[in-house]
Amino acid sequence: MCKQCEQNPVYEFTNKRKLCKSCFIKYFDKKVLYINRKFDLIKSGDIIAYKKSNDVKDVVLEDILKIFTNRGMIKVVKLPFKDATKVAISFNIDIESDIIIKTIINGKGSKLHESFPKIGKIIKPLYLFTDKEILLYAKIKGLKFKEKKIKKDKITDFINDLEIKHPEVKRAIVNSLLEIEDAL
Ligand SMILES: [Zn+2]
Repeated sequence: MCKQCEQNPVYEFTNKRKLCKSCFIKYFDKKVLYINRKFDLIKSGDIIAYKKSNDVKDVVLEDILKIFTNRGMIKVVKLPFKDATKVAISFNIDIESDIIIKTIINGKGSKLHESFPKIGKIIKPLYLFTDKEILLYAKIKGLKFKEKKIKKDKITDFINDLEIKHPEVKRAIVNSLLEIEDAL
């Protein structure tokens, strides 16, 4: 049961805490604001450009940007748009942990900064969300999207297997990178 309201749960954290539909949406929205504050992504007066697509991550990104437009903080425009102050992309913890490991394996450490939550004009408002959380949010909110088949390879399979055996390993990979960023 959802601890807060005794409704049927739709989501369970690795620490077994469970959330019902409406508490999950509240959690998701709060986390959007947390990510934004923590990484200093969206500021009042920004013109944020994003890619319009039916991929679930892009659809959820478009939806959560409304939190900021509804507060009258920002203007949102579709790409291509030259005069945007920032470009929001839908990279999340699954994509970034995969890129980080591949960058390290390929000996391209100098490119690791590209996996930071903010690189120049590019911001990643979904940075700390998992694929699972994003998919569930889209389903609960009834957003229209197409489930894309993700291209897989041996390294991606390896990280996914590792995540099953050691939950939170993707978070640990991304956190390690953030520690580097903090140390810079
Ligand atoms: Zn609840």
